[in-house]
Amino acid sequence: MPAGGEGELTLTVRMRVSPEPEQEEAVLDLMKRYRDALNYSVRVIIANRALSLGKAHRLLYNDLRERFGLPSRVAQDCYREAIAIAKSWLSNPRRGNKPTLKSLSMWLTHEPGYRVKGDYVELAGGYRLRIIGWDRRYDDFPNREARLVFRDGRFDLYVTKRVPRPAKYAPKGVLAVDINERQIVVGNSGVEQRIVTPIERALHYRRLAERLQEKYSSSRYTAWRRRGVIRRRIRHFHRKARNIIEDWARKTSFMIISLARQSQLAVVREDLTGLIESLRRLPKDHRTALIVLGYRRLAFWIDWQAEKNGVPLFVVDPADTSSTCPRCGTKLVEVGYRRLRCPNCGLEADRDSIAILNIERRALNQMGGSLATPTALQMTDVSPNRWGNLPRAGRRPGPVM
Ligand SMILES: [Zn+2]
Repeated sequence: MPAGGEGELTLTVRMRVSPEPEQEEAVLDLMKRYRDALNYSVRVIIANRALSLGKAHRLLYNDLRERFGLPSRVAQDCYREAIAIAKSWLSNPRRGNKPTLKSLSMWLTHEPGYRVKGDYVELAGGYRLRIIGWDRRYDDFPNREARLVFRDGRFDLYVTKRVPRPAKYAPKGVLAVDINERQIVVGNSGVEQRIVTPIERALHYRRLAERLQEKYSSSRYTAWRRRGVIRRRIRHFHRKARNIIEDWARKTSFMIISLARQSQLAVVREDLTGLIESLRRLPKDHRTALIVLGYRRLAFWIDWQAEKNGVPLFVVDPADTSSTCPRCGTKLVEVGYRRLRCPNCGLEADRDSIAILNIERRALNQMGGSLATPTALQMTDVSPNRWGNLPRAGRRPGPVM
């Protein structure tokens, strides 16, 4: 869930940046020294339980300046970040080895750690990076702390902003979301839309990665020359699988939230915690891992998009949503592949439609009399044929703009 005060949302704006060519080596060198200094600081802080700024400063500041050659302000940001990492490691009851950071990522406080000046970002220590592009929608909100990241040959600056939390409208009805392995069903007693999940597509890349891993784990192939290339290739496939899921979760949640807002409906999703936990207890395989990832990311993005767009959101208990009759509460009987029938009132529908109706009913019960109009289920402003005309998902709707 997005953090922030009562009336504020914290979001991150990504800026593509590029050091001046003659400074690129120097910036990379600074980031490497920062990473080494950070790993050193984390170890010192954990060993001495130096979790306050004053204590960390006394133990580390001179070392960071002299041994690692960090500019004064960067040294302070470095032990500040190290304290945060040490704290989260110490508070994790299942902690493993001491954390070691490998990626190039530098934490920066806003002024004096970094500042944006015209088309440039200036870092403490006199480094300048040209801003190539960013989302200007949040320009009016002040910059806060930021993180400079070097990955895949490019620099990105992630700038934190606080923006006012939009007010939520009073819903006229419910848009229920039923999530399962093959598809997402979105709807209510008036309309229904089905969206296929990308699990199979993502699984394809996981399998490619696995095949490479198996092929090159034999001793025949462990020549150092091969290893780097193959490892990069494997990592590429894993990342590709994750990106497919992330992209889909982001776009799908944006579409769901847009639909809800268009018709002033509340979005209702099931609480997936229990489901995710039970999946985690299964033997680990790629498919299960991707399904868990998909569920988690979709729930995350739906919640975030709802906050950001002022759409009311409810989370309901998922128990028995696809086995009891949404009309009379009787236990349903199976009458075909994924088709269910109520022996009491005769209602017959497919499992997913049943789930949507049950989720809708549960939400309406939970909301009590808070609907804007009692005739909410008429859905006068959404006709099924308009569903073919969904708003296009934005390119980057979410915490990272
Ligand atoms: Zn019934």
